Amino acid sequence: MNFAFSEEQEELRRTVRQFLEAKSPETEVRRLMETTEGYDPSVWKQMGQELGLQGLAIPEEYAVIFVQGGGSMQFTMVPMNLCLSGKPVDVLHTGAWTAKAIGELQKGIPHHIAASTEAERFVRVPRTEEIKLSEGASYTYFCTNNTIEGTQYHHMPASHAPLVADMSSDIASRPIDVSKFGLIFAGAQKNLGPSGVTVVIVRKDLAERADKDLPTLLQYRTHIKEKSLYHTPPTFAVYILSLVTEWMAAEGGVAGMQKRNEAKAKLLYETIDGSNGYYHCPVEKASRSLMNVVFRVGGSTTAHGDEALEKEFAKQATAAGLIGTPGHRSVGGMRISLYNAVELDAVQVLVGFMREFQRARG
Ligand code: PMP
Repeated sequence: MNFAFSEEQEELRRTVRQFLEAKSPETEVRRLMETTEGYDPSVWKQMGQELGLQGLAIPEEYAVIFVQGGGSMQFTMVPMNLCLSGKPVDVLHTGAWTAKAIGELQKGIPHHIAASTEAERFVRVPRTEEIKLSEGASYTYFCTNNTIEGTQYHHMPASHAPLVADMSSDIASRPIDVSKFGLIFAGAQKNLGPSGVTVVIVRKDLAERADKDLPTLLQYRTHIKEKSLYHTPPTFAVYILSLVTEWMAAEGGVAGMQKRNEAKAKLLYETIDGSNGYYHCPVEKASRSLMNVVFRVGGSTTAHGDEALEKEFAKQATAAGLIGTPGHRSVGGMRISLYNAVELDAVQVLVGFMREFQRARG
């Protein structure tokens, strides 16, 4: 396996680094911190268009705003702002995070579960032919990466109604075509920076759907109009986010992130699949997440593992410096999160540990 960047990608990386050194020296960053925009739109545009860092390019009709309250606040803000009277929200239900969003809709907002993989314990995302959208929905809601269940959409669902995506756990991990979405939201804390800031990319005309009598802070239009400075922003989190964005750009942008992420996930899934069933991933291959790899250790069925062995795995892994391997408490098993910042080297150490753990006990 060759995980190295190709010569073409190395060239892109060099070009972007030189570009940022020239256009965005520290003095310039300091100056921009004093401006209301906080960034230089012309440099941003050049990065997106001239350097070809597709995925950073946000079309004119969209606004990017920073709000607080995490991804969870968006479970409330999205329906508050985007629901049209008498038009239901279509939801694709794929796990714990769409369940939370549904929980908020159940407080009186008409909605329709257009697809659900709950009967299969969420081991995959819905197939195109299973999605039954309603006529004239307010919007279609889904979660691109299911952090707990370890599933991810590799093709975005089609919908006439605006698509609203919770990208909290895979934003900036791969290029996406923003123009296919009505609204995208993501808490920063996985791929973009520290917790405390939530990024919302919203088509400006959709933000105008909201009743002007809604609480001011909960209207997207407030944050669009005030350029995310309606109230005191979480300045530290936004600053770190800007540094992470620069780092991503220098690493080849979201296309570079995708390459890194694919290499890491490939190595880990190959190790699981090549273990003769000692490690097993319950997620269907076509839905496997590149961000959160879930697997079981031992056990006789694909759905379960040997819980005592899994505890031992986590304990030994911690002793080897590999922390945070247990899965979410609601599902058990193991979960390895491969967010953008995780290096391939770390995954190599992990798979080395996994092979040794199996050899010693298998
Ligand atoms: N959606 C997804 C997909 C998540 O992974 C999370 C958090 N792990 C949330 C929403 C909730 O985000 P927050 O904790 O920022 O409210």
